[in-house]
Amino acid sequence: MTWLMAFTLLFARVQEPVDTHLALDDLARIVEPTGKIQCPKVELVNYRGDFIRYASPLHVNAEFRARLRRFELVVHQTAMDVYGRAPTQITHLGSFNCRRIRLWPEYLSEHGLGNALDVSGFVFGPLGRRQNAPADLPKALKRGFRVRIDPDWQGTEGVAALHAKFLRELTQRLVARQDIFRVLLGPAYPGHKNHFHFDCAPWRIVEI
Ligand SMILES: [Zn+2]
Repeated sequence: MTWLMAFTLLFARVQEPVDTHLALDDLARIVEPTGKIQCPKVELVNYRGDFIRYASPLHVNAEFRARLRRFELVVHQTAMDVYGRAPTQITHLGSFNCRRIRLWPEYLSEHGLGNALDVSGFVFGPLGRRQNAPADLPKALKRGFRVRIDPDWQGTEGVAALHAKFLRELTQRLVARQDIFRVLLGPAYPGHKNHFHFDCAPWRIVEI
């Protein structure tokens, strides 16, 4: 890690305070930077998604599940606006995982508390006969399709440009909502080229 990167990350860590109090806010995140890691016992639930299904079940704490339900509604609304229907699935790279933050080994990852989700994309079914597509929806997107953070975040032409618009609109709406995620990381953050990392750590970092 360069000094500039270390400084940038340190600066990001002390951004504005967070919204309401969550039970896990009181838990220390400091861990030994090396050796076998012990994650605190946190009660986890299996969650498949209430408004939009996740491609495979998540293991998260109950407070984070409540945040995910709000997240699904924002995904739903944004997709309606851009594609005329909601995705059938949210694809992800994992939720619970007892580990350290890669760039900050003296900190426990929020994944170790079931307090984080890595979203890699969205799966859409074909446009239904009764669903109204926006007038400018490309014909190809009336069939089923997938949106992936990598490469669609960088899309500049054709359907890829529309996917990029959807992903950017979605993250803007999520950042504007103080009652969903506190940490929102994406391709602008080291190691996040192919996914959005969302969590509810007791600090706020936005770097998408
Ligand atoms: Zn993550």
